[in-house]
Amino acid sequence: MRSFNPPTRTLLGPGPSDVHPRVLEAMSRPTIGHLDPLFVGMKDEMKVLLQYAFQTDNALTLPISGPGSAGMEACFVNLVEAGDTVIVCQNGVFGGRMKENVERCGGTAVMVQDAWGSPVDPDKVEAALRATPGAKAVAFVHAETSTGAQSDAALLAEVAHRHGALVIADTVTSLGGTPVKVDEWGIDAAYSGTQKCLSCAPGLSPVSFGERAVHAIRNRRTRVQSWFLDLNLIMGYWGSGQKRAYHHTAPVNALYGLHEALLILREEGLEPAWARHWHHHLALKAGIEALGLRFVVDEAGRLPQLNAVAIPEGAEDARVRARLLEEFNIEIGAGLGELAGKVWRIGLMGHSSSPRNILLCVAALEAVLLDEGSRVRPGVAVPAVQRALAAG
Ligand code: PLP
Repeated sequence: MRSFNPPTRTLLGPGPSDVHPRVLEAMSRPTIGHLDPLFVGMKDEMKVLLQYAFQTDNALTLPISGPGSAGMEACFVNLVEAGDTVIVCQNGVFGGRMKENVERCGGTAVMVQDAWGSPVDPDKVEAALRATPGAKAVAFVHAETSTGAQSDAALLAEVAHRHGALVIADTVTSLGGTPVKVDEWGIDAAYSGTQKCLSCAPGLSPVSFGERAVHAIRNRRTRVQSWFLDLNLIMGYWGSGQKRAYHHTAPVNALYGLHEALLILREEGLEPAWARHWHHHLALKAGIEALGLRFVVDEAGRLPQLNAVAIPEGAEDARVRARLLEEFNIEIGAGLGELAGKVWRIGLMGHSSSPRNILLCVAALEAVLLDEGSRVRPGVAVPAVQRALAAG
């Protein structure tokens, strides 16, 4: 066996997305102790940078040492106890995982189902809350990576609060790509991931908990069943103005990477980053539609950073994706769950969302589809992208 040397791919799937070279460089810096005063100082900065990304003043804003799924579990194991009822909205794969989490905490999940590819319907959530007095929380996925649909988090939070329920929002794919405004929208607990629009390596999960959520955690009837994810303990490690107690050994170099990624986001600015994702979505859309392909999510609920495109008739899903990978070093995503075999998921997330990548993706897709005998319009897609990019 030899050292593992992966090729340089262009990551245009549902994540991970391309990691910014500055982040990769930051991760290769010397490892220091996780209780070293310099590292503790970096963690304090990281909290401020994450507060900016989440648009919050929440003191309990930190990265969980684990992927997005760990942030998801951190929210559920801390906020849901045996006997609690949670309204869980499902319009794709990840709502299903929320249900699993609630049930594994001993809670009851009351499901609000919407079609895959549609946003969560706030009227249905309202009806579920009316029918379920005392529901502890409403949980939803802000940006459904499995379909490319975005839900109205502000409205869903307002509905939940009207009924006295906490709000748990999955912002794994939205953070850094489309607006996430934790304080303005009143989200009580949000979790995200580093591998999507933050241009960072996978493996960390930024979370933010507001006052209502912290109150609920501090007043639990029972101990959190997960020792590792118990925020009462994690607060002692990440809290400020107090002696940091050893809880676990933080992934030191991964955190250097996230610190750098958040600096890059702050340098660009959140609003320009959101605008870039939208502008590049429009350029990709111009190319995809010029080829004769269509998007599966209605324009109003469409995520700019995750583009679900219907696989054209006659094209072989896996073969086309394999050719893009082998011949062009481009990764795009397959459909998941109900959409498996029906869509390709083209991610334009974080550092991956660039004019170069859109032009490359559209040109390569055209070449492969033409070679595979698909009926796509030749020679018009790249100019369409160029025009959309110039329209800036
Ligand atoms: N939630 C959503 C919406 C996701 O897209 C993902 C991953 O793609 C996750 C949760 C889980 O994140 P991870 O794979 O980093 O554990």
